[in-house]
Amino acid sequence: MNNRKIILHPCGYFDSKVLDILRDDLEQEFNCDSEITACNIDISSYYNPARRQYDANGIMQNISLNAGDKVKVLGIMRVDIFVPILTFIFGQAELSGSTGVASLYRLRNELYGLEINNDLLIERFRKVVLHEAGHLHGLIHCHNQVCIMRSSTYVEDLDQKERAFCLSCRSKLNSLL
Ligand SMILES: [Zn+2]
Ligand SMILES: [Zn+2]
Repeated sequence: MNNRKIILHPCGYFDSKVLDILRDDLEQEFNCDSEITACNIDISSYYNPARRQYDANGIMQNISLNAGDKVKVLGIMRVDIFVPILTFIFGQAELSGSTGVASLYRLRNELYGLEINNDLLIERFRKVVLHEAGHLHGLIHCHNQVCIMRSSTYVEDLDQKERAFCLSCRSKLNSLL
């Protein structure tokens, strides 16, 4: 460990078991410390009534700590988030930056008329969180079909990916850490 830290910032309720899983993932993959700090922002000010979604860029600006290169903040949410150019996003993060967000809203089977599946939901969310944390550490999108850094538009894309960095992304990441 070299003082690098990822702060997981739950905006909304998350089961502590889920938070622990996410923390372990981040610590393992990025060889860093992690901590969980509750998010005190009022996300209702980022609600866009016309889109019935929340503005991801606004939320990111708010949770940003500007605490330097080594401290990264990842907001995790349950609400539907967007950026102006896209219908919806699973998450977004600054490339080699310090702030990102991820939401599980669009990862829920029931949104697509399928049966609730909590295990699948958590698995998808773990992938999104690691993907966004990958961007924060400097990784760009990867073309490897199963790499976690491949871009995903639909949950089916997420399900195809493994919860792991391909060898190429892994070695790049190791050189960036
Ligand atoms: Zn991405
Ligand atoms: Zn890759």
